[in-house]
Amino acid sequence: MLIGIAWDVWRAEREGPGGIARRQQARLSELVEFARSASPYYRRLYRNVPERVTDLHQLPQVGKRDLMANFDDWVTDPHITLARLGSELLSDLSQLGRSYRGKYLVVTTSGTTGEPAILVHDRTSWVVVNLVVRVRERRTLLRTAEVREFLRHGLRAAALVAGGGHFAGVVLTESARRRSPAIARRVRVFSVLRPLADLVQELNDFQPTVLYGYPSAMLQLAAEQKAGRLRIRPVLAISSGENLSSAGRAEIGAALGCRITERYLSSEVPALTSRCRHSAFHVNSDWHILEPVDADYQPVPDGVTSHTVLVTNLANRVQPIIRYDLGDRVTLATAPCPCGSPFPVVKIEGRSGDLLYFGAPDGRQVTILPLALGTVILETAGVHRFQVIRTGPAALRLRLEVAPGADRAQVQKLVQERLASFFASQGTGAVAIEHADEPPQTDRSGKFRQIWSS
Ligand SMILES: [Zn+2]
Repeated sequence: MLIGIAWDVWRAEREGPGGIARRQQARLSELVEFARSASPYYRRLYRNVPERVTDLHQLPQVGKRDLMANFDDWVTDPHITLARLGSELLSDLSQLGRSYRGKYLVVTTSGTTGEPAILVHDRTSWVVVNLVVRVRERRTLLRTAEVREFLRHGLRAAALVAGGGHFAGVVLTESARRRSPAIARRVRVFSVLRPLADLVQELNDFQPTVLYGYPSAMLQLAAEQKAGRLRIRPVLAISSGENLSSAGRAEIGAALGCRITERYLSSEVPALTSRCRHSAFHVNSDWHILEPVDADYQPVPDGVTSHTVLVTNLANRVQPIIRYDLGDRVTLATAPCPCGSPFPVVKIEGRSGDLLYFGAPDGRQVTILPLALGTVILETAGVHRFQVIRTGPAALRLRLEVAPGADRAQVQKLVQERLASFFASQGTGAVAIEHADEPPQTDRSGKFRQIWSS
């Protein structure tokens, strides 16, 4: 199976758009047929859908809440139930990274945007993930100079993710460690939920040459390195799980002295994109379908930012993901990428759940982009880190960390003034800003969210 899929992943790229479309079409009809026969949930959902599906739009979209509420009917292996998964695997942290029933990899999402989900992947699904990354990023993941550095200093990878749960980053790392003691010595989870001083100590001992995981944790480490408490020499940092701002990227790069690259993936569709040498994200559309849509689930044209995105994972049979609302706002490129890849380029703009709505004086609703709001705050002199929680149509709560030496009251006043003129320019009514006593903080999975609605 391994060689067959590897060959196919390579061939698809060579054959270009026609070969990719043909694979997508064939895999979709097989998946739909399989879901209908083996998943009671999809059988019910598709009861009015024609026998032969020729157009994706004939299929209704699905959402996390509904699927999780029907979990036992959603999965296609009757041995898997939510209750059994809970008692046999998820409640037991000693099982981290172990395959379930000898063939499934199970991960939970942190639920930073809504309820947590439990995702089950079969063997084909993980083989596709591994091969797509290896084949499609074979020229871009590492640079020659970096390979030389690894040969000289060894390969030791530190996963900066949240421990304490079956989250994807931990499960993947622990699953690799279980494969061999040699891997286990070189790859380790460093839970970002632990006290920073302990984390710094452990990383000084381990001396990782690769860091991967949450950029918010890398930012904290960058500050520790600058202060001289952390002394590591990574060759490469791979950011994933959260958005990385360009300011954050520069800060991490300067302090740690290494290149930073990004991964865009989600537990539902782990092989959705690959990054090329022009830093563009290409959709692996032979194994995944990505549909940017508006709030009514109607397709939006290339070049227009979607409200959300529907994804279909053509590789996973045990828990079919077909036109699943992922909640990300994305834009498909209108021009081909200079790298020459036949796969479409997508730009990730953030989560649709993060869009903020404020009231206008005439009763209308004004949509505020989190990025714009965040930039106004971050570009205020003296602001080091912040978190914004929209608490009502005319109110938000601000957690502020000021730069060393800055006067807190002064910075608060400045932010307040800048926000007032920003909101006025956007046409909202007055927005009350409550300054929180507590500093910015991570959620229970260790993820750092910057802006959201309560
Ligand atoms: Zn490209």
